[in-house]
Amino acid sequence: AMFVGAAMGTFPELYANVQKAIGASERVMEILNEKNEAISIVASENQTKKIITGELAFKDVVFAYPSRKEITVLKGLSFEARAGEKVAIVGPSGAGKSTIASLILRFYEAQEGELLFDGKPAGEYALTDIRNQVAIVPQDVILFGGTIKENIGYGKIGASDEEIIAAAEKANAHNFVTALPEGYDTLVGERGIKLSGGQRQRIAIARALLKDPAILILDEATSSLDSESERLVQEALEILMRDRTSIIIAHRLSTIREADKIVVLEKGMVIESGTHDELLKNEEGLYRYLSQLQFEA
Ligand code: ADP
Ligand code: MG
Repeated sequence: AMFVGAAMGTFPELYANVQKAIGASERVMEILNEKNEAISIVASENQTKKIITGELAFKDVVFAYPSRKEITVLKGLSFEARAGEKVAIVGPSGAGKSTIASLILRFYEAQEGELLFDGKPAGEYALTDIRNQVAIVPQDVILFGGTIKENIGYGKIGASDEEIIAAAEKANAHNFVTALPEGYDTLVGERGIKLSGGQRQRIAIARALLKDPAILILDEATSSLDSESERLVQEALEILMRDRTSIIIAHRLSTIREADKIVVLEKGMVIESGTHDELLKNEEGLYRYLSQLQFEA
């Protein structure tokens, strides 16, 4: 077996890393290896499986971050998303929602339990193959230094200009991009122009559309946007979620009513799951309580 190190720094760095990860696993490994909080994911020659259907399952997963071993973040987590299903994960801040995203992307390995893709243990897939089939749209999208075209094209090696523009159109990004003086050649990232949060998200959505992954993770993807931006992003996300397994992490419950299943997480455990209507029937339930709070506010 060959050792492949992956390490994370502080939490805010996580998504910077995750995003750099999209579509370029080798680079990810380098970026992650710069940090010294090493974890190991063992790669072996038998990792020949490819994710096809996008079915996903956590089985009794127990997980603590390597740097904080005394705190068990996931305490026997189990849930599954069938191929093409929309599964929402809700729960208070700190419940472990984003940690689930990190485990799906295999930035960390669970200490106990299993993560299954298409019914097979995650360890039977190469990291590259997993990350080629999983896309994430986080709350705060960080674009890398380069043009808009490059940032979108990152989703698919060798994408043509036509494909990039088609993806941007579906992602509700084309109009604002073409309104920029240099259009798709506009430089973004640290040295480039500043785009709004909603604009950056639509670039990330265009990239994910090009990538066409079997599994999509949205981590609070619409939670920091103004309402106009939110509408454009939400529309783009609906298109992106179509026909693929989607894990929708949300603290705003309005975005997840239509999910096939809602998993309510508290302190690293699933305390309820069901559809919106089913969960509302549970009078003692956390979901019902959270819904009432948000409805009143
Ligand atoms: P949520 O997304 O539900 O708000 P997180 O998954 O981000 O929750 O965090 C769950 C717990 O894990 C929290 O106690 C948080 O402080 C801790 N945590 C998150 N990321 C890291 C990390 N990189 N290293 C150590 N602890 C972390
Ligand atoms: Mg989170």
